[in-house]
Amino acid sequence: MHYLDHAATTAVLPEAAQIACRVMTEQFGNPSSVHKMGIAASGIVEKARKQVAAILNAEPSEITFTSCGTEATATAIYGACRRKGRGKHIITTMIEHSATLNTVKQLEQEGFEVTYLEPDADGHISTADLRAAVRPDTALLTCMLVNNEIGTVLPVKEFGKILKKKAPNALFHIDAVQGLARLPIKPKLWNADFISVSGHKIGAPKGIGALYIRKGVRIAPLMLGGGQERGMRPGTEATPNIAAFGEACRICMEQMDDNAAKVEALCTQLKEGIAQRFPWAVYNGKHDIPHVINVSFPGCKSEVLLRVLEMHAVYVSSGSACAKGKASHVLAAMRLEHTRIDSALRISFAPSNTSDDVEALLDALEEGTKRLKRE
Ligand code: PLP
Repeated sequence: MHYLDHAATTAVLPEAAQIACRVMTEQFGNPSSVHKMGIAASGIVEKARKQVAAILNAEPSEITFTSCGTEATATAIYGACRRKGRGKHIITTMIEHSATLNTVKQLEQEGFEVTYLEPDADGHISTADLRAAVRPDTALLTCMLVNNEIGTVLPVKEFGKILKKKAPNALFHIDAVQGLARLPIKPKLWNADFISVSGHKIGAPKGIGALYIRKGVRIAPLMLGGGQERGMRPGTEATPNIAAFGEACRICMEQMDDNAAKVEALCTQLKEGIAQRFPWAVYNGKHDIPHVINVSFPGCKSEVLLRVLEMHAVYVSSGSACAKGKASHVLAAMRLEHTRIDSALRISFAPSNTSDDVEALLDALEEGTKRLKRE
């Protein structure tokens, strides 16, 4: 099997799976229980909170566990926009994940005005456009750190500066789901008030995420209940997933430099192979990080090409996994021609990939593109 779809999800790291299994079968107390098993479970959650805080360069008290990146994002966006006395204007980009886009669309229906910043043909969002968009009544800027379809990095440091200078009361949310463990996360330098992350993109199980909430920022929770996570996210804590997420963060942090070098080498190998064997292929976006490469094979519909690759046990994607095969809103926002959007593949690496995976992909692509071009 050659799995090259890590922007969709990753395998759970063995160490993270082991911890989750132990917490499920042995240390399964409820962190709210006051007996020994409850206290032990609470200790497991707090240890994981420290590990997540460490990779986010944050204080443990600034971390709230959620069920996923989508929930973290919704908590931040609704929380920021429903504050008393805030303005009625939101800024986001046209290339956000649906977790953000659908949440701001909902707020638009509730009376908020939303400015959607447009990417250029390379998938970059300009700081000049942001500067022009910020207004005194801007309540929130919400944007991603790394785009999940094309791997572009947004200039969040400059965005934070511009926002806070022009609208000091506005809050800044960053969706760092695809940036976690790939890039250093710097909440203070970026002037971030909220940062969303998700476990299943870095070797933790599905069903765990976290929201960084800057110390001093007060927002209402999405739900009310038993007061867990300091009232920000009620519901009995998913202790196995939380423990596994903490462990995955610890491992990724320790291996960040080595992992970056491994992925860079795989990306170079892929690009050299594409240049040699498919000189007619076209890259979409500038993939500022080597983990996510988006490339079109004009004349070969990606949905069909995916099936041919699958027959060779090579797994890539035609875009965001959440888009379920719909035409990419990211590539459309970049105003690419239909034939390019229609034939785009997203290849996304993890450090566990090998050069054999890249060779298998190139071989399968050769067969697939030859066959589809003949048809
Ligand atoms: N944001 C981005 C950029 C993503 O890529 C994803 C998942 O693909 C999400 C948010 C949602 O994360 P989750 O699947 O944990 O809800």
